[in-house]
Amino acid sequence: MLELENSDSAAQHAADSTTSAAALKTLSSLVYGEHFVAQQHLRTVYHAISGDAIYQVGSYGIDTQAVVKYAKQKGALIAAWTFHQRANALKQAAQYLMARKEEFYALAQATGCTRKDAWIDIEGGIGTLYAYSSLVRRELCDEIAWVEDTWIPLSKQGNFGAKHILTPKAGVAVHINAFNFPIWGMLEKIAPTLLAGVPCIVKPATEGAELTHAVVKAIHESGFLPEGSLQLICGQTYDLFDHLNAQDTVTFTGSAATGQQLRAHPHLNAHSIPFSMEADSVNSAILTEQANDETIDLFVREIFREMTTKAGQKCTAIRRAFVPSALLDSVQDRLIAKLQKVAVGSPEQDNVTMGALASVKQKRDVAAKVELLSQDAEIIYGSHLRKDVEIQALNLEKSAFYPPTVLRCNTPLNAANIHSVEAFGPVVTLMPYTNLAELADLVARGEGSLVASIVRNLDENIEGLLTKITPWHGRVHILDSESAKESTGHGSPLPYLVHGGPGRAGGGEELGGLRAVKHYMQRTAVQGSPNVMTQVSHSWTAGAQVYEDRVHPFKKSFDELRIGERLLTARRTVTEADIVNFGCLSGDHFYAHMDKISAAESLFGERVAHGYFIVSAAAGLFVDAAAGPVIANYGMDNLRFVEPVKIGDTIQVELTCKQKTPKLQRDPEQKPHGVVVWDIKVKNQRNELVATYDILTLVEREL
Ligand code: NAP
Repeated sequence: MLELENSDSAAQHAADSTTSAAALKTLSSLVYGEHFVAQQHLRTVYHAISGDAIYQVGSYGIDTQAVVKYAKQKGALIAAWTFHQRANALKQAAQYLMARKEEFYALAQATGCTRKDAWIDIEGGIGTLYAYSSLVRRELCDEIAWVEDTWIPLSKQGNFGAKHILTPKAGVAVHINAFNFPIWGMLEKIAPTLLAGVPCIVKPATEGAELTHAVVKAIHESGFLPEGSLQLICGQTYDLFDHLNAQDTVTFTGSAATGQQLRAHPHLNAHSIPFSMEADSVNSAILTEQANDETIDLFVREIFREMTTKAGQKCTAIRRAFVPSALLDSVQDRLIAKLQKVAVGSPEQDNVTMGALASVKQKRDVAAKVELLSQDAEIIYGSHLRKDVEIQALNLEKSAFYPPTVLRCNTPLNAANIHSVEAFGPVVTLMPYTNLAELADLVARGEGSLVASIVRNLDENIEGLLTKITPWHGRVHILDSESAKESTGHGSPLPYLVHGGPGRAGGGEELGGLRAVKHYMQRTAVQGSPNVMTQVSHSWTAGAQVYEDRVHPFKKSFDELRIGERLLTARRTVTEADIVNFGCLSGDHFYAHMDKISAAESLFGERVAHGYFIVSAAAGLFVDAAAGPVIANYGMDNLRFVEPVKIGDTIQVELTCKQKTPKLQRDPEQKPHGVVVWDIKVKNQRNELVATYDILTLVEREL
């Protein structure tokens, strides 16, 4: 049996220590441009393997009002940067961190994890910065504000309409993180925040704070982000919340108990300060009813990986495994057979495949939770109560190892704890189900989770199951032999996908591509005329003023072009020969263009020109053929064919400069250039719109 507590270790791990650990270093907080080192009310952090005291954490004495003020005065400079400036700074910071990753790996050893576990936190975290940076550069305009809509017309004459505009909140985001991912947990939150143009105050969990500290310190040293845009409080937040206002945001990852207590903070309530929470989640894995041998292996492999990676200390880890009744014994045997090969011990030893929990406190917490689970289920492998697992450690009492543990509950419909208690370690409960309705009921008893996996045979239709469980989950991972080799796995939150879940999981949504950036921005419906909309959104809006010139717009450099610059082209009458020639050239002999009899019976009543011919003919009308500052046409967006063009119709094109985005020069050889978006409207002789689209061109700059 594992020794969980003796009088020495209890005394050693007493929460607050100001005297016995006086010689230890104290982590500084990085606030208002200073390294603030607290002198009182320090908490000691212990090495997860040796149990030795390694550093102290405290924030007593920090002027939290000054921290908020500093963020809003200095750090708010980031709101004046454009999306691409923010994204480039984040990428440079990521490069700086990556070059120093070994320093972080060295510190991670104290948290008990293996190098593979640390990779998730360190390189997974830095990778999230890269991913967010490139997403924003790719998807968003190089502007300060984000215009969500093209134009919502609200009047008959077209002189009144609206656009939704997102602007950075004029506040600060306070991010309170859990101990299990001291780096990733911070970076996945600050990436969308900083990209939104909002400064951050980060408060890491006391355990593991050294890693967060090292990364924030490195980001400061890199100098890529504005001063004050990222501050760090190592220790407690004290009265920080009291200094927040309605423009601020608080996010939290940790236990439901703490999260609920913080969410109910009277000041947050009184000022409607958004509070986003990610808490205990009793995630599921489901083996489908027709599982075959291969599927069972995939299922067992996934549970095994979730139990042993980070010693099960992942908010996404599988806690409940639902198995068709007839297959439960088989799953149990295969899982235990795999777990018997796990070498638990100090990650410094070569053969070790699973490390320790983050602290003795966590070990005690997991043991207590396993005892709660055992009120509903039988412990069939591992735990602190059996002797199935040998742990390779010098001092079991002082270290934070906990064995892989499997419970089995034969009557999950009569159980409560297994659906509500999260043992935050290498612990899973296996349970049977008999039919789809029962399975859906059991999954829902988790009252909302971050993720569920469905492991299926290739020929099984799981749509019915999916529809039943999706309302309870932020993410569903469907695994089968087709995706198994390339799947990113049950437990990996990805920057592009929603990370968060309803109910017990907290109701938050930390990640999810650009959606996460929007959490830190205010969406405002701005109403007005096309001219004022063009002015505030930096994008020409239909109906706004246009500028015509004798010089063709394609002869103008990026810098010479004005938004609203318009070319009205010559006309062209579409003939039968045009249609036949285009059909032969393209090979598109669709009946609506080429077959007089079928076309007569069609929607159009007669032959019509190919839509792609209209697009090509339009280019023929608006292009200026001579070499000039336009480097290339690189795409087309929002193409719609509105009315058919029939033989004898005459078309004309309006080309309007809609938007200009300067591009960063990647190397000195490259010509300075920018992207110009042109609004194209093709009309017929009755001034009816026949086609509309945007074209994107690269245009040289004069620099
Ligand atoms: P916790 O006690 O809820 O702590 C989470 C974070 O909140 C830490 O940074 C903690 O700081 C901070 N905190 C605690 N009390 C606070 C207060 N009054 N004001 C401001 N901040 C406060 O959770 P934990 O001890 O880290 O983990 C306990 C359990 O939470 C785990 O066993 C697990 O069940 C669950 N958990 C869930 C997730 C998830 O993502 N779903 C992740 C980790 C843990 P200090 O560390 O300085 O106290």
